Amino acid sequence: MSAANPNASSVPTAVVISIGEELLEGRIADTNSGTFARELLLQGLHVTKMYTVGDGIGELQALLTQLADHVDVILTTGGLGPTADDRTRDDVAASLGVQVIPIPVDGAVEHLAEVYKKYHDHPATEAFLAQASMPAGAEPLRNGVGSAWGFMVNLGTRTRLYCLPGPPVECISTFRDGGASEDLEQRFRAGSSLAHGVLHTAGAPESVVEEHLRELIIDGGNPRLGITANADKVSISVLARSEEPTEPAEHLLETTLQDLQQRLGTLWWGRDAQTMASIAVESLQKAGQTVAVAESCTGGRLAAAITGVAGASQVFSHGWVTYSDQAKQQQLQVPADLFEQFGAVSVEVASAMARGARQVSGCDWALAITGIAGPGGGTEEKPVGTVCLAISGPDTDYSICRLQFARAGRDAIQRQSVRDALDMLRRGMNGLPQLS
Ligand code: AMP
Ligand code: MG
Repeated sequence: MSAANPNASSVPTAVVISIGEELLEGRIADTNSGTFARELLLQGLHVTKMYTVGDGIGELQALLTQLADHVDVILTTGGLGPTADDRTRDDVAASLGVQVIPIPVDGAVEHLAEVYKKYHDHPATEAFLAQASMPAGAEPLRNGVGSAWGFMVNLGTRTRLYCLPGPPVECISTFRDGGASEDLEQRFRAGSSLAHGVLHTAGAPESVVEEHLRELIIDGGNPRLGITANADKVSISVLARSEEPTEPAEHLLETTLQDLQQRLGTLWWGRDAQTMASIAVESLQKAGQTVAVAESCTGGRLAAAITGVAGASQVFSHGWVTYSDQAKQQQLQVPADLFEQFGAVSVEVASAMARGARQVSGCDWALAITGIAGPGGGTEEKPVGTVCLAISGPDTDYSICRLQFARAGRDAIQRQSVRDALDMLRRGMNGLPQLS
């Protein structure tokens, strides 16, 4: 992947604007800004600022007036829908001093009218058809997954403005496939001097991961390393800059990633868009093996993670959510006396669940999770966050009791547990030492 050099003054600059009252009221989280910050970086632009503006008349226009000719690129998302508060077209047209006109693409307006007819018994409203309009002089950007067209236009002599719809799948599709990305690439071919990659780890907290690479994390250094952590993984981002034509950024990125992999040993499991579940499915496919899961406190999230990966049907056959003791006994043949002797949250029960799931399903591997996701149900001996996990497979039967980071809440405890179960499968399949 190529990316911009944010430290160099010659790098073109960009601003991302998110539009919508729903963002300012906190009704939805702004994910578009992050998506495009990354997208623009990889296209060779340095995002210098992000703004969020409401839907009020003239709000966007005021901001555009302030920014025009001070940056190379402005990218907006939102305000292109069919409701009265969607005013991006009007505000941009006002900034340019032009009218809003129908999209000059054959059938664009007619197609929208047809779409409207499917759901209504009267002709399409003006506001709905306005989704196929744009400021005069702009170029349309086709939205392949929704009804609102985007557009791009010059603002002043320096700034190129891209206006995209708000819904995340629509703005990214309109950007990548509708013509914006291509237009950017042609205008700002700056990206080849940087390369960006991410390495994902599990099995140790952020502080332990950092210890392995502390000497590489240098302020203003090249490559630039950054660590992010959440309940699913700890990731290391690497932004490599080419300082000599003889050393391409891609090469520096690759050698850095290799170095990190060496330092991190069995902790690292994947790169870039890979997930623990995608790694699991891929490894099982390669090995021609299958997996079943038996879950209690994660309520199906492990099965959902695996089946969220395309191709999961080749490797996943059974998933149980056995929430009660009775379900664990009936479905997975967990012996009743284990509950009395050790409790439902115990390595003994987790082990029996995994063995039962493997036997009943006939799969090569089975994973089991039983724990206390909280906020209630904890005891001194087994506090909230206590989670027992087990794996059963060819020549493998292993179980552990972990204390998840509980203060982050029920959702985070479940996610950490799914992560650990998938990590146990990765370790089991690769003959690596198990989690402890
Ligand atoms: P629009 O009709 O173009 O204003 O888009 C409105 C819808 O897009 C909102 O109701 C949200 O569901 C979604 N949306 C708009 N802006 C954002 C954003 N910055 N991040 C994530 N979703 C957004
Ligand atoms: Mg809106």
